[in-house]
Amino acid sequence: MSAPNVSSTFPDAIGDRLAGSVTTVGDRDPLWVRTPFTKDTLGAVPACQPADVDEAVANARDVQASWADRPIEDRAAVLQRFADSVLANRSELLDIVQLEAGKSRFDAHVEVLDVVLTADYYARTGPTHLAPTRKSAGVPLLTKAVEHYDPVGVVGLIEPWNYPLTLAISDMLPALLAGNAAVLKPAEATPFCALRAVELLEEAGVPEGLVQVVTGYGDTVGERLVASVDFLTFTGSTATGRAVAATAGEHLVDTSLELGGKNPALVFADADLGDAVRGLVHGSFANAGQLCIAFERIFVERSVYDEFLTRFVDATESLALGADLSFDYDVGSLIAEHQLETVETHVADARERGATVHTGGRRRADVGPLCYEPTVLTDVPDDASVAREETFGPVVTIAPFDDPDAAVERANATDYGLHASVWTDDRARGEAVARRIEAGSVSVNDAYLSMWASTDAPMGGVGDSGIGRRHARHGIEKYTHAQTVTTQRVHPLVPVDALPNDVAAAAATWGVRALRRLRRLDPFERG
Ligand code: NAD
Repeated sequence: MSAPNVSSTFPDAIGDRLAGSVTTVGDRDPLWVRTPFTKDTLGAVPACQPADVDEAVANARDVQASWADRPIEDRAAVLQRFADSVLANRSELLDIVQLEAGKSRFDAHVEVLDVVLTADYYARTGPTHLAPTRKSAGVPLLTKAVEHYDPVGVVGLIEPWNYPLTLAISDMLPALLAGNAAVLKPAEATPFCALRAVELLEEAGVPEGLVQVVTGYGDTVGERLVASVDFLTFTGSTATGRAVAATAGEHLVDTSLELGGKNPALVFADADLGDAVRGLVHGSFANAGQLCIAFERIFVERSVYDEFLTRFVDATESLALGADLSFDYDVGSLIAEHQLETVETHVADARERGATVHTGGRRRADVGPLCYEPTVLTDVPDDASVAREETFGPVVTIAPFDDPDAAVERANATDYGLHASVWTDDRARGEAVARRIEAGSVSVNDAYLSMWASTDAPMGGVGDSGIGRRHARHGIEKYTHAQTVTTQRVHPLVPVDALPNDVAAAAATWGVRALRRLRRLDPFERG
C-alpha cells in the first residue's frame, strides 16, 4: 500500500490560510494536526485559550441580530447555495476529511452527502417548522394564542473527530437557519474540514463573523465555550458528555448531548441472510467501526446462526483495508494510537476470557500505522469489556439466541440506547420488535443509512447515549426560545367587579365543565 503524498494533497498554504481564520486574541501555541494515514503532519492550528472563546462569542453575538432580522427565506437560500458549493467542492472536501480522519473515501463521501441533504432539508422545511403557530386558546373565541420561535442567540458546538464534516456542520445548519450565530470547537484531530466548510458557508452568504471557530483542547476551550453560550450542542463520549452537562447545569445553559452507543442487531431465522450479512458487515465496519451508530453486538436466531456466521466472516474478509485517497478501499484507518489501544485491549481481554476470533484481531502496520483488521468474535462472555463497553473500532461480537424475548432482553442489557437493527422477512414483526428495543432509533431490514437519511425524523439516544435530538423539527426547534403571545378579543380574563368572588368561582367552574365537554366533541382537541 503506497502512502498518500500528503504534502502535495494538502499544501501548507491551505493549512496556513485555514488556521489564520481561527479567532485568537494573541499568539498561541500550535496544535499540530497529523494524518492517520502516515502520521505525517498536515499543519497546525492555534491552541486557543479561554480568552479566545470569549472573543469569538462576543464577535458572533455582534453579527447575530442583523442575521436574525433577515427573512428566514433569505437564510434558507444561503443554505441552498452552501449545499451547491459543497457539491462543487466535493473532491477537495473528501481529501481533507480523509487526510484528517483517516477514513475510506466512501465513508468520507457519506459525510459530504449528509451535509448537502441536511442543508436542503432545513432550507425547505425550516420556514414551516419555525412559522408562528396558532394554538388552541384557553378560552375559545375570546382568546387568540400564537407560538413564536426566536433564536436563542449564540449556539456553541463541540464536536468529535469521527465525522468531522457532518457533525461540525450539519448540526450547525439548523441553528443558523433559526437566526443564531455559532461558535464551533472541532476535535483536536480534525479542525481543517470544519474551517474549510465555514469558508464555504461565508462564500454562500453567511455574514463574516457569524460563525466562529475556536480550535484547541477540550478542557480549556470546550469548558469555556459551554459556560459562554446560549445553547450547547455536544457530540462525543458519554464521559465527556457528563462533564459538559455539569458545566452547563452550573451556568443554566440548555444542551443537547449526542453520546456513545453499544448498538445491537437482531437477525431472525426468516430474514434474507444475504441482505442481513451485507447490511451488518457495512453497519459494523463503516468508518472502521468508529461510528456511534455502528453495530458492536449481533444476535442471530440459532437455526441460521452457523450459516450467518460463515457468510458474515467471508464478507468481512472480502473488505479491502487501505489508507489512501482512492475509492479502492472499504475500511480505512483508526484515528489515533489511543483508539487502537482500546481496540487491542478489548480483543485481548475477550481472548483471555475464551472468545474465538474468526477473522481479524491484528494491527496492520503494513497498510497504515493505525490500521486494524475488521474483527469478528464469538463465545464472548457477558463480563468481557467488549461485551459491555463501547469499543468504537472494527470489532463485532456475534452470538446465537433461541428465544426472541431473551434476545430483546440481551439487546437492552446495556446502559446505552442509541441505535439498533432488526432483520426479518415479517416487517410487521420487525416493527413490533423494534418498539421493544430501548434505543432512540431502530432500523428494520437496514443497518443505519435509511434512518440517518430520514432527516424528517428525529435521531438521538436514550440512557447513556444522550439527551435531545438532531434532525426533524426537534433539530431546529431546540435552537429557539418559544414565545407565546395571547391576545384577548373582548374582555380581560379577570374577575368581574360586579360579581362576588364565590359567584365568579361558580361561573368559572361552570365554564371549565362546558369547555371540557366541548373539547371532547372537537376532533382537533381529541387529536
Ligand atoms: P470526546 O468526548 O473525547 O471529545 C468530543 C469533543 O469534546 C472534542 O472536541 C473534545 O475536545 C471535547 N472535550 C473534551 N473534554 C471536554 C470538556 N471537559 N469540556 C468540553 N469539551 C470537551 O469524544 P471523541 O473521542 O472525540 O468521540 C468519540 C465518541 O463520540 C464516541 O463515544 C462516539 O460514540 C461519540 N459520538 C456520538 C455521536 C452521536 O450522534 N451520538 C456521533 C459521533 C460520535
